Amino acid sequence: MKIGDWDVQHVDAGFFKLDGGAMFGTVPKVIWAKLMAADALNRIRFASNSLLLRGNVEGRSRVVVVETGNGDKEDALFRERFALEGHNILLESLAARGVRPEDVTDVILTHLHFDHAGGATRREGDRIVPTFPKARHIVQRQELLDARNPPLRSRASYLPYNWEPLLEAGLLETVDGEGDVLPGVSVRPMPGHNRGNQGVRVLGEDRKLVYCGDLIPTRHHLQPTWVMGYDLDVNTCVDNRIRLLNEICDTADILAFDHDPEVPAGTVRKDAKGRYLLEPVEL
Ligand SMILES: [Zn+2]
Repeated sequence: MKIGDWDVQHVDAGFFKLDGGAMFGTVPKVIWAKLMAADALNRIRFASNSLLLRGNVEGRSRVVVVETGNGDKEDALFRERFALEGHNILLESLAARGVRPEDVTDVILTHLHFDHAGGATRREGDRIVPTFPKARHIVQRQELLDARNPPLRSRASYLPYNWEPLLEAGLLETVDGEGDVLPGVSVRPMPGHNRGNQGVRVLGEDRKLVYCGDLIPTRHHLQPTWVMGYDLDVNTCVDNRIRLLNEICDTADILAFDHDPEVPAGTVRKDAKGRYLLEPVEL
């Protein structure tokens, strides 16, 4: 899909599973299980949805990857725990679109949890190296601070080998708050899930796309109060969801989900009862 100067595509970065209870917080299983099926271990299958943005801006061709999924560095125990499917799925998906790792000019990470930043580095022999060796990688300054000194409750989500090799290679750039990172591409803090989560916005003249990271991970989290057990600041999360959803309701603006296994993107409207409803859009 064309948005402004950018050609925007959904890219499959692999599937994995997370505990259903953790993903739906206080929502009873009898309710969420009607929407998303759980396996024998109570896990739900989620996607890692990345975006590929291609455009010619300021005389230079840019290839932007938003989010990198779990990557392929983890051991058998980790892979089994999270039911990671396949290997190097993001790289395969990019290759299928004619994109090699060295072609990527920019990587935007909503935050540094392993299911978002894991694919930003890879194993090469006994070393861990940047997956996209020529790309600048963009994350909020707050997120890098928290990743390096994480709150106890989210420590397991931060694995330093997902970003430290980027820092060593001089490929990690932090931004502070809202701002343009490229012409027609901006980031905006969307805290709640954690402090440093940022949304990515692609801006065209008649529509925009908002990729909101883990603020709203799937279309089943469009109910503002259906927060995740993982969310660190629940009230901030609910407030920011409502603010974002009201902002994009009844426009042609597209909301893209990082973890929805079936519908990576859609437009949103509010019905008479105040519920947010999604109309799927093909990217
Ligand atoms: Zn996530």
